[in-house]
Amino acid sequence: MEGRMMHFPLTLVHLLERAGQYYPEVRIASRLPDRSVRHTTYGDFYRRSLKFANALRRLGVQKGDRVATLAWNHYRHLEAYFAVPVMGAVYHTLNPRLHPSDLAYIMNHADDRVLLVDDVLLPVFERFRAEVHPRHVIVWSHGQPVPEGFIDYEALIEPEPETFDYPDIDEDQAAGMCYTSGTTGRPKGVVYSHRGIVLHSLVSAMANTLSISQYDAVMPVVPMFHVNAWGLPFTSVLAGARQVFPGPHLDPDSLLDLVQSEKVTITAGVPTVWLGVLERLDREPGKYDTRSLRAIVVGGSAAPQAMIEAYEKRHGLNVVHAWGMTEMTPLGTICTLKPHLLDRPQEERYRYRAMQGRPVPFVEVRAVGDSGPVPWDGRTMGELQVRGPWIASSYFENPGEADKFTPDGWFRTGDIVTIDPEGYVRITDRAKDLIKSGGEWISSVDLENAIMGHPAVKEAAVVAVPHPKWGERPLAVVVLREGAQATADELRAFLEPRFAKWWLPDAFVFTDQIPRTAAGKFLKSALREQYREYRWE
Ligand code: ADP
Repeated sequence: MEGRMMHFPLTLVHLLERAGQYYPEVRIASRLPDRSVRHTTYGDFYRRSLKFANALRRLGVQKGDRVATLAWNHYRHLEAYFAVPVMGAVYHTLNPRLHPSDLAYIMNHADDRVLLVDDVLLPVFERFRAEVHPRHVIVWSHGQPVPEGFIDYEALIEPEPETFDYPDIDEDQAAGMCYTSGTTGRPKGVVYSHRGIVLHSLVSAMANTLSISQYDAVMPVVPMFHVNAWGLPFTSVLAGARQVFPGPHLDPDSLLDLVQSEKVTITAGVPTVWLGVLERLDREPGKYDTRSLRAIVVGGSAAPQAMIEAYEKRHGLNVVHAWGMTEMTPLGTICTLKPHLLDRPQEERYRYRAMQGRPVPFVEVRAVGDSGPVPWDGRTMGELQVRGPWIASSYFENPGEADKFTPDGWFRTGDIVTIDPEGYVRITDRAKDLIKSGGEWISSVDLENAIMGHPAVKEAAVVAVPHPKWGERPLAVVVLREGAQATADELRAFLEPRFAKWWLPDAFVFTDQIPRTAAGKFLKSALREQYREYRWE
């Protein structure tokens, strides 16, 4: 027997209409390039998104056409997140930190018809402009005049009506696109569906996950060009939560200032951002009022346990660890403690919180070794494989990557994990970052996190370096905190009680900065390249 419920498509149209109808007074704060903060509302967002949808139609944008953005986080970028998909087209976020040749490759591969670009990012566009062919380039001007040959966004939408005649949209239709940042080969296009984004938003808002509601002020520090700012702009619109966009200013003072002035309740970003903010807070405790903040979500790379502890013990701030991928819209797991774990000793609780956590509803996981799925014993390592309604089933126009998907319908993440009997996933490494020493595996992540627990250390990355006897051995690249001192011998002695002797890095190299990927993660491939010829003593 068939169920007797309506078929109601899960599309972004409903989210946009809801925001306009029920939350028109809710505020959106955006820090602009000149550092000023501009306040708009969901009412403005609703009307302007519909005007923009009309304008796109007038420009000839058709169903399924790609509309690219090259922009920081702000209210106009949010308008594009909705206006483009509700008129049937596909937004495609571009990462301005990528190499110009990668940006050209990505734009051409996606066949982007329109480009929306921040005036302050026009110099980035100029570096690959000659290689790409969008029909229209629309500029989000934040004060600078719009150069000849480009369309001014405000002038474009100004004459348009504030109502829009939506086309029929199937929930499985493409809504957005984002390319993986290419730390593992050529960038690959991931295509998000309306349904996937809607379900992802519902689950992200759940009390058991990020618990985002109309009482929150959400500040995605993670850029809107990095996996939909982890979906937070969509989740916030669904929930009617205030939004706070940091624009191009991602330094600790600018972020802390927004937390204080906008009373941010939940924020999210990669560990490198939060390591910087922690150092700033430590330097001048009490300078900023952060009492509104109930959660700092950390993901993108492993959050060091020492950082989670430091935020809580020194600043009373709650760090929540999450894991996801571009291919997963991106939320996969989130680390909240089950009630019975709250009674465990403090050290054990912190150990749990440094894990990546349990899968959120509708994400299923398994860890697979050479002879199939491994037991959930918290020790046996395997490759994490996932499936669910917001997980990619293939890449855009890229049949060469078919082996990322198993014949029985799972996506291979390339992350090596253990899963414990409670279902908590712990990422020991990315397959390509594991150090293979004398036939055994050493987790670079475990070593880095332990080194970052030393009080003199600000950042650490551990990479495999070829070794004549062992195949590979770990080398640690370390950035010390301002004014702090530590020697290689001290760091080795610090690690000794925690690891088997053969795990300890054979060399510690001190440096001023660890290179970053375009998403702000440690760029370990560059370090591996840099130290490939390292002469072991
Ligand atoms: P890229 O492959 O360019 O880094 P993604 O942002 O999609 O792009 O990265 C996803 C990867 O980031 C995951 O496969 C995993 O290796 C890593 N990652 C994400 N979150 C975490 C986390 N909380 N802990 C450890 N690694 C993480």
